[in-house]
Amino acid sequence: MELAQRATVLTPSLTLSIDSKAKALKAEGIDVCGFGAGEPDFDTPEHIKNAAQAAIEAGFTKYTPSSGIPELRQAISDKFLADNKLTYKPSQIVVSNGAKHSCYNAILATCQPGDEVIIPAPYWLSYPEMVRLAGAEPVFVETREQNGYKMTADEFQDAMTPRTKMVILNSPGNPTGSVYSREELQAIVDVCTEEEILILSDEIYEKLTYDGAEHISVASLSQAAYDLTITVNGFSKAYAMTGWRLGYLAAPEAIAKCIDAIQSHSTSNPCSFAQKGALAALKGDQQAVADMREEFDMRRQYMVNRLKGIARVTVVEPKGAFYVLANISGLGLSSSNFADRLLSKHHVAVVPGIAFGDDRTIRFSYATSLDVIKKGLDRFEEFCKTL
Ligand code: PMP
Repeated sequence: MELAQRATVLTPSLTLSIDSKAKALKAEGIDVCGFGAGEPDFDTPEHIKNAAQAAIEAGFTKYTPSSGIPELRQAISDKFLADNKLTYKPSQIVVSNGAKHSCYNAILATCQPGDEVIIPAPYWLSYPEMVRLAGAEPVFVETREQNGYKMTADEFQDAMTPRTKMVILNSPGNPTGSVYSREELQAIVDVCTEEEILILSDEIYEKLTYDGAEHISVASLSQAAYDLTITVNGFSKAYAMTGWRLGYLAAPEAIAKCIDAIQSHSTSNPCSFAQKGALAALKGDQQAVADMREEFDMRRQYMVNRLKGIARVTVVEPKGAFYVLANISGLGLSSSNFADRLLSKHHVAVVPGIAFGDDRTIRFSYATSLDVIKKGLDRFEEFCKTL
């Protein structure tokens, strides 16, 4: 049987293969220190769970409008104004099954065969595959460690061709933890406005910034930026709601309308009672968000200090998200070979940078307890000494 070409061009997920090896070792009773997690290790705050439970009890278990319930879209509109200085009407907002779904909808609605989409590398590994699924072509811009793994406007311009349709920005970023400054974003936006290039701004890690780094919403920079930007955000990272599958985007009306049509014919509405939980997340006490951020920050500092003390390993101190990217190229192994050996010999699971388009690095997530971080880094240090 011949499969659709769009499906066969996808790269199997490297993160999943490391994850399944780690799970197999754990099943044998081996104590594995896992740094692969892409999700907060905290539980969803109680008031959010209660709101969803109450919704089920009240029979809120039916279809909702495809783009989400009006009160949630209103709450998201209020959030954009309060947190991001962005004015989006509820009609410009589409709630989907996770920010991943929002990104995919956004790309599907705007990109097609013949289009190129610029993606700074290292990148979140789903972006290129989403672009390919839309029939468009990803174009990678390799960023430099010296520049904090951030793409400059010049590097962006060099990668542009007449076919460039979109650029994907992700600040704070996965896997780099980089946070772009207002000036850095403005310089990229200036290039976009000159050539009418769309911007997909994935702001899912917005609430996780450290050392005073400020999160800037790209669309808030100017009217021109607003007109070209699709802003994506969600509940997974800020509220520890990964399993709820809820994210959202906001876009100029015409794009939002098109995305609503795509969603209405593919997945319909996101889960009804999960939306009630999300409403409680936005409207309720934000203390849990601050507490989680603080705990992440403490772990981040510990991890960065330890890694900085290991010979031939370099790190750029991440200012956001919950990852540290360590450059291990000085140790002489490819990232996947390195990650494989680290796991099988020292029982430490990390994600090889090649999964993010960068073979110089490995990614540690600090969405795990400090005890695991300490033990795992001891083992990592031992392994590095053997190379
Ligand atoms: N964007 C980035 C950069 C991410 O790291 C993730 C989660 N790994 C997502 C989007 C997707 O989040 P969600 O659970 O809301 O689909």
